[in-house]
Amino acid sequence: MRSVQSILLPCLAGCLAAVACSPATSMSDPAPSAGDSRQAELDALVDSFAGGGGAPVTDERVLAAMRATPRHRFVPQEQQAGAYRDHALPIGHGQTISQPSLVAYMTQELKPAADDRVLEIGTGSGYQAAVLSPLVAKVFTIEIVEPLAQRAAAVLAELGYDNVKVRFGDGHLGWPEAAPFDAIIVTCAPDAVPPALVEQLREGGRMIVPVGPQNTVQELYLLEKRDGKVERRSILPVRFVPMTGGAVE
Ligand code: SAH
Repeated sequence: MRSVQSILLPCLAGCLAAVACSPATSMSDPAPSAGDSRQAELDALVDSFAGGGGAPVTDERVLAAMRATPRHRFVPQEQQAGAYRDHALPIGHGQTISQPSLVAYMTQELKPAADDRVLEIGTGSGYQAAVLSPLVAKVFTIEIVEPLAQRAAAVLAELGYDNVKVRFGDGHLGWPEAAPFDAIIVTCAPDAVPPALVEQLREGGRMIVPVGPQNTVQELYLLEKRDGKVERRSILPVRFVPMTGGAVE
């Protein structure tokens, strides 16, 4: 048994002026915009998702959430110019943020509902959590690299995503105090699905998880929990950074 220290990060900044950072809690609110002069770039990117080959994104709620999420705010300054190309980008500490079409596809396949409580493993920049924020009731997200967890928590707070909670810790343990979850999204690749995550998924819940070793093509699986058992379906070949750590309860 190995214990891992995990801390809840304090909200580093409150919501600023309501107009500048309307909290993304409901799709019936006026959609927040990417701000600056970048909304046209973002809209053009999102328009391209419907033709996404094997991974088309057509869910209107998800497309609206993508249009409302300023990706450039989540990546390091030197990457901001390319934030609205459909590419993965480095976010420091050897980690990367997935290309936006994949974020959109995974979000769509998770079938987020307005009253869902969702767990994300691999906060990274906080971008995926921000995309989920307006689509669900609450997002819990865990990051194992402390400076990334801190930065993501700060950006999310600054932009008013007040239904997202960030924790620094090892996602292998899940977030037992907040379980059960309606949906779990894993954005780093374990060799096998961590048992704690299956336990913390509610009956009928959905999990999206890339599985497989680094430097190989991994399988993105959609898992559903039925009668305590997990049914899994492979939905896409992908490449994700590895899930590190490996703490077990
Ligand atoms: N979803 C992120 C991108 C994730 S990159 C975004 O939208 O920006 C994958 C992340 O998983 C990295 O930040 C990496 O540090 C983190 N990670 C790797 N192993 C982990 C673990 N055991 N627990 C929590 N996070 C982990």
